[in-house]
Amino acid sequence: MSVYGSCHCGKVQIKSPSPPEWVADCNCSLCRRLAWRVAYYPPEQVRIAGETTAYVWGDRMIGIHHCPVCGCGTHWQTLGEDFGKMGINARLLDGFDESAIEVRKFDNADQASR
Ligand SMILES: [Zn+2]
Repeated sequence: MSVYGSCHCGKVQIKSPSPPEWVADCNCSLCRRLAWRVAYYPPEQVRIAGETTAYVWGDRMIGIHHCPVCGCGTHWQTLGEDFGKMGINARLLDGFDESAIEVRKFDNADQASR
């Protein structure tokens, strides 16, 4: 069952192949600020429609995308190397309920994490 989502203004639309079974709550320097809950999927199964702006930092292996209009973080994606996965911000998915899903704490506070 596909799940749909969008940023706040609706310019960026997300389609994932299934509801996330769990999400990551990462405490790296960026996620701590953005409060993302990340769900992982193979990139070929996710559709992102609409223009996004990528923020790249640290080891420069991934782009952290957000909507340039409303600012919502939408997804992250590798910049070249094939990780076999990408992350989408599950908070943007329709009906996302953090209390109804497993939230895995990722302890990356000491590194420039993905
Ligand atoms: Zn937006």
